[in-house]
Amino acid sequence: MSDQNILETVITCPVCGHTKAETMPTDACQYFYDCTGCGTVLKPKQGDCCVYCSYATVPCPSMQGAKCKSVTCVKGHYEPD
Ligand SMILES: [Zn+2]
Repeated sequence: MSDQNILETVITCPVCGHTKAETMPTDACQYFYDCTGCGTVLKPKQGDCCVYCSYATVPCPSMQGAKCKSVTCVKGHYEPD
């Protein structure tokens, strides 16, 4: 159903292009991510609430549930009904 968040995602490092499958936490936004390819510590792009919104294939669980409080966060934003 619509309340079933997708937690499996693939994050892509913008520095080296390394991709890795990850499972997103449901209780917190992950603001930092250590690339396992080049060791760069990734941070969200401006306006995104977490690294998954910026660099992964699926927006983070809080975005999927339209609970993100950032008004500038539009990527993958689900309209509250
Ligand atoms: Zn990297």
